[in-house]
Amino acid sequence: MNKFQTLIKLILENNKDFHETRNSQHKPLDLLILLILNQSTTDELSDRAFKNFKINYPNYKMLLAENNIENLIKSIKICGLSKIKANYILNALNYLHEHNWLNINLDFIHTLSDEEALKVLIKIKGIGIKSASCLLMFAFKRGTFPIDTHLFRILKRVGNIMPAETNLVKAHKFLQPQVQGELAYQVHVALIELGRKICIAGKNPKCSICYLNSICEKKIQ
Ligand code: SF4
Repeated sequence: MNKFQTLIKLILENNKDFHETRNSQHKPLDLLILLILNQSTTDELSDRAFKNFKINYPNYKMLLAENNIENLIKSIKICGLSKIKANYILNALNYLHEHNWLNINLDFIHTLSDEEALKVLIKIKGIGIKSASCLLMFAFKRGTFPIDTHLFRILKRVGNIMPAETNLVKAHKFLQPQVQGELAYQVHVALIELGRKICIAGKNPKCSICYLNSICEKKIQ
């Protein structure tokens, strides 16, 4: 058993009451926009920006027809980097419009394998491997394994799981084959929770109450 498998075993042992919580709170395309808005900001601010966005643009075709980037920037201003994010949003919608003609949606994803879908999604400017994996995991219930800053920090601290000098993209390529299907979702969610509450960023992770303590190289005694 390698160290990543041991980490998964500990996650399963310590999260026995885990249950599936993915629901259709957001349509796939709404989630794509939310993932763009969520880059480099908090969930709270990106949620507020998304709410404003939906009030101003209840219909995606309306946004493309209006083609007014200044109005779009204003509607998402609260989450920061609004000019860049507005460009990403328009670019993504135009990309989908070109590929679906009058139907701007992500229905075509249903016909693709996880790997094919990832390849298509990361062609959209502003959508990296993490956002694409999240979109597939949450909106399409696929077995992709998104590695965000929480997961990356924990896996690095635990040590000897990913190659040295890795980054998010390389970490995804290395770990995705080792965790698939429902397990990918459970491991992702458990590590996000651990990263938010226990293995927090900064100098004071709560190692004494962490269930990964026994295998962690960077634990604080
Ligand atoms: S033992 Fe400490 S550093 Fe290691 S994963 Fe747990 S909280 Fe993070």
